[in-house]
Amino acid sequence: MNNEPKCWICGKTADSREHVIKKTDLVRAYGRGSFSSESGPAHVKAGKIMTLQGPDSTRVKYQSSLCQDCNNAFTQPFDLAYDRFVDWTLQNEESVLRCRFIDFQDVYGKRLRGFANKSFQILREGLRMSARGGRPARSF
Ligand SMILES: [Zn+2]
Repeated sequence: MNNEPKCWICGKTADSREHVIKKTDLVRAYGRGSFSSESGPAHVKAGKIMTLQGPDSTRVKYQSSLCQDCNNAFTQPFDLAYDRFVDWTLQNEESVLRCRFIDFQDVYGKRLRGFANKSFQILREGLRMSARGGRPARSF
């Protein structure tokens, strides 16, 4: 039996590791690295504290769960949508905290609202899949 991991999106061989903590979030918060072992970010997993050497550390990546094509090309628009969401949220932090909701139309405009909703459906399904350790419950 072949136990080679499969891409959870297309089913090809999974030869690419996705970040658990998005690389752009680490770079936004701590810079491109290398991170200082004394003053850089710490990663805590199962109660064990470890330093991160940089935003590409294997400590902040899943096991291979995607193929190169899906991790680089297919998911890129969703990564960009996520980055836009985070940037917008940080730029509008005071308003978001006061209103306690975010309208995707404010973030993406009318044309991209449907795309954003789809992106978050895929993200949510990916997170559920990761928590379950298997394939997504639905296809996209
Ligand atoms: Zn794939």
